[in-house]
Amino acid sequence: MDNRKSVAYFCMEYGIENNVKLYAGGLGILAGDYMKEACDQGYPIVGIGILWKQGYGEQLIDQETGMPYDAYKNRVYPFLEDTGVTVSVCIKKRDVKIKVWRYRAHGVDNLYLLDTDIEGNDGEARWITGQLYGWFGEERVAQEMVLGIGGVRAIRALGLNPSMYHFNEGHALFAGFELIREKLSRGMRFREALQETRKEVVFTTHTPVPEGNEQHPIDRLIYMGANLNMTKRQLKAIGGDPFNMTAGALRLSRVSNAVSDLHRITAQKMWKKVKGRCEIIGITNGIHIPTWVDRKMLELAEEYNGTKAAEEELWNRHMHNKDALIAFIEKRTGIKLNRDVLLIGFARRAAPYKRSGLLLSDPDFIEPLLRGRKLQIVYSGKAHPLDDTGKGIITGITGMARQYPDSIVFLENYDMEIGRMMTRGADIWLNNPRRPQEASGTSGMKAAMNGVLNVSTLDGWWPEACDHGVNGWQFGDGYQSDNIEKADMHDLKALKACLVNEVIPTYYEDRSKWVEMMVSSIKTTREPFGMKRALDEYYKRMY
Ligand SMILES: *Cc1c(COP(=O)(O)O)cnc(C)c1O
Repeated sequence: MDNRKSVAYFCMEYGIENNVKLYAGGLGILAGDYMKEACDQGYPIVGIGILWKQGYGEQLIDQETGMPYDAYKNRVYPFLEDTGVTVSVCIKKRDVKIKVWRYRAHGVDNLYLLDTDIEGNDGEARWITGQLYGWFGEERVAQEMVLGIGGVRAIRALGLNPSMYHFNEGHALFAGFELIREKLSRGMRFREALQETRKEVVFTTHTPVPEGNEQHPIDRLIYMGANLNMTKRQLKAIGGDPFNMTAGALRLSRVSNAVSDLHRITAQKMWKKVKGRCEIIGITNGIHIPTWVDRKMLELAEEYNGTKAAEEELWNRHMHNKDALIAFIEKRTGIKLNRDVLLIGFARRAAPYKRSGLLLSDPDFIEPLLRGRKLQIVYSGKAHPLDDTGKGIITGITGMARQYPDSIVFLENYDMEIGRMMTRGADIWLNNPRRPQEASGTSGMKAAMNGVLNVSTLDGWWPEACDHGVNGWQFGDGYQSDNIEKADMHDLKALKACLVNEVIPTYYEDRSKWVEMMVSSIKTTREPFGMKRALDEYYKRMY
């Protein structure tokens, strides 16, 4: 690709390294993988993000004062380079100073992180970059003003001159406001400034769950100063009233993408009523393979030739990864799982549509399998401390884990390390979202490339990859219903049948077929679901 355009990529979170707590979940992991692949391929991409003091859901409280820890007391990242650049944004009628750091480590070298916790800011301003995804409206708007408006100003101050601005999720939308303001200040008319801005912005939409799409009262945006002097009418024309960040981004972009083909169809329906929005195309997510996949496993799959020796070697490598997971679980929980029993992995943020408890919901089915040592399950998950529904979901699973201490384990605080261990060492990767609410689901890609067979509803990326009984399994046949109970009953029945009739017999009775399926899982996914393909597609179809 010659003449590659330079791109500035905006995201609230980046999952780059496990101990660098700048991410909450899938969105951040995607952004981290994207930055790593851009670096590997030498693409002219810079990332803009925020230097969070506390990670998602972390509550680091000083025992003595009861106040949140001072950032520099508890977390210092020595690899951050001081760019010497400071910019400012007027938030709630006072100037907030923003320091710009450069992240150059862990295979990333062009990521700039914004930080308000600096001398000269008042206490409230210093806390803007305190905790990822503040839950309160004003706090969130302030965070997004730092990311969007501060981000564009940082780009200018650093002397970078990107030709495209990519908003990964609607959080970055205020960057579009700043791009408009710049043009107005050069004397352009509003309509023209809007049109010109639209030519340089692209957008990725993620969640098909309505609550996941943030909105704010227009008055709040004005009160905070996020409007940058745009009038109420102008704001309303962009994001509606209340102001919806996704609708706004769809109107401020040249083109946008959903993160799988099924999600494209869902998103087009969901945002049908947004007049004047850009087109939504589908670009399925991918993963940064060196981060997530066991290289040895990739090699063995490539060399596999159907002989007994090749089969044995690949299986032994899998057992090596499974043993590593079992040891990891034992270290964390004291529970030692059995290496000869089919191990199901399930790790998800505790959102209701992901149905973490589905498999456990019929005791007459699951109990004999657990007692008879036909299967064992490792769960992981995380809920925000203020999210009672999510916490309830996790309590349900940990309750079951106490009843079956030898066969069900729960790993607390799902993070990149747990994700990596589980998507390498489980035998199967269970994914049972209510179709069509899972936008993509990159954990399944990690599993697939490690030879961990997916057992999944046809949601997110899986309809594009699944060859049933060849590289994994689907259950539910793509059934959808607005009646939640009906949908859950349908899928549970299908899941049970798939486990009992296909997965369990293959695992215990036909090792050769299992290994062949592992090989085919790896070979059919490594190119189409690698980040290289996704990045190239962004260049071809978006930038
Ligand atoms: C891969 C990964 C995700 C995203 O996985 P989904 O399939 O979208 O749930 C989230 N969190 C962590 C820690 C991961 O490693």
